[in-house]
Amino acid sequence: MSLLEVKSYAAGKWVAPDATARSIENAVTGEALGRAGNDALDVQAMLDYARDTGGPALRALTFHDRARMLKALAAALGKHKQALYDLSFATGATQADHMIDIDGGIGTMFVYASKGRREMPDAHIYVDGEVEQLSRDGSFLGQHIATSLQGVAVHINAFNFPVWGMLEKLAPTLLAGVPAIVKPATATCYVTELAVKIMIDSGILPAGALQLVSGGLGDMLDRLTCQDIVSFTGSAQTAFKLRSAPHIIRNSIRFVAEQDSLNATILGHDAVAGTPEFDLFVKEVHREMTTKAGQKCTAIRRIIAPHAQVDAVIEALSARLVKTVIGNPQAEGVRMGALVSNSQKSDVLEKAAIIATEAERVFGDPDNFETQGADGGKGAFVPPMLFHCANPDAATRIHDTEAFGPVSTVMGYRDLDHAISLANRGEGSLVASVITHDPKIAQEVASGAGAFHGRLYFNNRDSMKESTGHGSPLPHMVHGGPGRAGGGEELGGVRGVMHYMQRTAIQGSPDILTQISGKWVPGATEKPAPAHPFTRNFHELDIGETIHTDPRDITLADIEHFAEFTGDTFYAHMDEDAAKRNPFFPGRVAHGYLLLSFAAGLFVEPNEGPVLANTGLDSLRFMKPVEAGDSIKVRLTVKHKTPRNDDYGEVRWHATLTNQNDELVAEYELLTMNAYET
Ligand code: NDP
Repeated sequence: MSLLEVKSYAAGKWVAPDATARSIENAVTGEALGRAGNDALDVQAMLDYARDTGGPALRALTFHDRARMLKALAAALGKHKQALYDLSFATGATQADHMIDIDGGIGTMFVYASKGRREMPDAHIYVDGEVEQLSRDGSFLGQHIATSLQGVAVHINAFNFPVWGMLEKLAPTLLAGVPAIVKPATATCYVTELAVKIMIDSGILPAGALQLVSGGLGDMLDRLTCQDIVSFTGSAQTAFKLRSAPHIIRNSIRFVAEQDSLNATILGHDAVAGTPEFDLFVKEVHREMTTKAGQKCTAIRRIIAPHAQVDAVIEALSARLVKTVIGNPQAEGVRMGALVSNSQKSDVLEKAAIIATEAERVFGDPDNFETQGADGGKGAFVPPMLFHCANPDAATRIHDTEAFGPVSTVMGYRDLDHAISLANRGEGSLVASVITHDPKIAQEVASGAGAFHGRLYFNNRDSMKESTGHGSPLPHMVHGGPGRAGGGEELGGVRGVMHYMQRTAIQGSPDILTQISGKWVPGATEKPAPAHPFTRNFHELDIGETIHTDPRDITLADIEHFAEFTGDTFYAHMDEDAAKRNPFFPGRVAHGYLLLSFAAGLFVEPNEGPVLANTGLDSLRFMKPVEAGDSIKVRLTVKHKTPRNDDYGEVRWHATLTNQNDELVAEYELLTMNAYET
């Protein structure tokens, strides 16, 4: 087979490796597979292309446009999945591993596409949180907004997930409107290259939105500005070196790091051998040790079990590990493939030897194991290795040494406090899991260990069928962790998009805030509606368009009729003396829901029209009781509009009910679906 010439994609052109390229090995055979790298790459031209061409094109799109773009990209990648699988076997990964890397990456992109449409506006500015009252009369207000960074995101990725590693950073970056330069780890960059080629060839992305560096970055990081961001995944050593560069520090360049951590799992003391939780625990640990041959940043490195269960855990885990067939990932029956390279293999064996100074190896012998369909001496194979540390309190290396392979250490605990303190000895991790059926144990771990871990994963018989696994970062949930894990955070839905945007506090009058945020703010100018707003389609409605209804008197007969009709005969509506004893009411009062119903009756336009449905009501507050003899009227204002599909969009209306003295009685936001065409 001819050697792969892995290219970079720079300033709109594919650039082949040159004489300075590094060679890449096939993880399964240990033979040369190809080469990547070109020291002559013009990194300044790449940055300029991203900043001057990619950035403006992306920023011209709204969040919804970008979300549609992500969906199309994910679909394009999905069409070429098989080619990505075929190429990925050479990284040592099995088909099950590909599902995590390739399908997981595409799935992450789809989730961002969907969140971009559902949770972000069809606009260029993201409104963060609620309006803050900064004045007594409401004439001066505050609002946080976020706008796209005007630079470029440089993504430096690890070797273990050549596709997911790229897409989990790329999806939030593009959604934020920021172009990316992706630099995968050289060892597996040929898979990333194919994924980038699929995306570029799809023609979906604007020019300059995505570039690729296969090989070294040169001095690119020294050319970044305060509008750029580096998002890094890899070793603590490289993270330290890159983030402490004077240029990065001097210019306060954002640096998000996600690095190796000593993730732990705790077996709850309720989960003794024989319970579904015990079996689940063994299954989860086995999966974490063997998936991707243990080369997962979230893999379980420390197994914390009650003293009384340690022997049973070792026995049950060993019984599973012994059945794990190791070898060529394309060979029949193989469950665990190779490490990514022979240099990684040396690194893992070196780290395992360090762990062995404090713990006894109770399963797996790197000098004596079988491989199927591959030459174990040539490929980067190691067997799963399980250690037992008898004195985890005195030990230090098992808490700070990550063997980035199928290596894990069992340790016993006395009580839950002890288990928590052992989990926290990792000094910051991406994830810790607890297998327990006792919610109180979960509560104690959450308060005792939360500060040390980016994610806490609880599982038991109730959730195990649908649970997603200790080691799976999900696009909806944050991924990252304190301390040793790098102190960074990625994903977590819209939170992940915010890393690529600048949050700005805006202060000003209601009109200023309304114009900037695209959301009508109480106190801003009301626009008179040219016709009843329910007769106007989605596009015709203006933000701030308002109607004021006539008043309606509330009578005792109304209250009694409503009580009888609905069955809500709560004493505050029916019994004058009892209502008076209640500190909230002057006497019998109208039902809040009666007022809402009357309000709907006051503002509705009954004929068939562009309003298709009332889909909800948010932030309802009743401020002042209404008695028989009072009257209410409604002000209804178009607050915000969000397109939903090809035919209709959501209109958010701000509704206030006031009484005959213009005092606020109730306030809420009404949601309707409105057709684009009348
Ligand atoms: P590295 O930290 O060496 O590499 C990570 C990324 O940084 C790669 O893309 C690498 O590129 C790049 N890089 C390295 N040096 C520089 C530099 N001077 N300037 C710019 N980019 C640079 O980690 P490895 O991938 O070699 O893995 C080593 C260890 O990292 C593993 O054994 C494991 O402990 C840990 N790791 C942690 C992961 C996690 O998710 N937390 C994931 C993977 C690894 P290149 O490949 O071209 O050198």
